[in-house]
Amino acid sequence: MSDKKEHWIKNPWIVGVVLLVFTPPLSGIWDFIKGIPYWTTLTTIWNWFVNCELKLWWILVYFFCMGLISAIKAEIQKKRYIPRTYLRFTALKYGNFKWKWTWAQDNLTKDIDISNLTPVCPNSDCNNNSIYESRTASKKDGRFTSYVKYHTCSICNKEFVVDGHDSMIRNIIEDRIRANTFVETTNELPEFARKS
Ligand SMILES: [Zn+2]
Repeated sequence: MSDKKEHWIKNPWIVGVVLLVFTPPLSGIWDFIKGIPYWTTLTTIWNWFVNCELKLWWILVYFFCMGLISAIKAEIQKKRYIPRTYLRFTALKYGNFKWKWTWAQDNLTKDIDISNLTPVCPNSDCNNNSIYESRTASKKDGRFTSYVKYHTCSICNKEFVVDGHDSMIRNIIEDRIRANTFVETTNELPEFARKS
């Protein structure tokens, strides 16, 4: 509600029309209170507009430009909120693990990005989607040392070695979207895409 009101005030077209409609009767009331002939105040205002350094048409041009700018802004805003089908792609299976994520929009740039990317606990009794990286173990392989990352489920406390890692899954998600081979896994759209 308050959002709409703010929008109304900011729209120069509506403000201009309201001013045009209400100025004559208001100036008439003012004339009546002052006990001066009707139109006196309106004529004064009009003369000020015509004779003043700031010509009336400048104001009209100003309102026209402001209207044009707000129309373009509204169009850009609309484009930013088009619900994209990939926003319903929020899970995939890689190896023995299911990965889940949400979509988030940057407030400033309006860029949409993957957020809260996490492997899901494979324990079917648990189905928890927050298993966290608990430790890294090093493994000596001749001259080389490799590292294995362990994840632990915050509910069932089981420990897992997850197939794949964040940046790798992120690439797979992006590749599938680019190739249009993703499968929608939810009907829900993220909060930012539900607007308008
Ligand atoms: Zn679990």
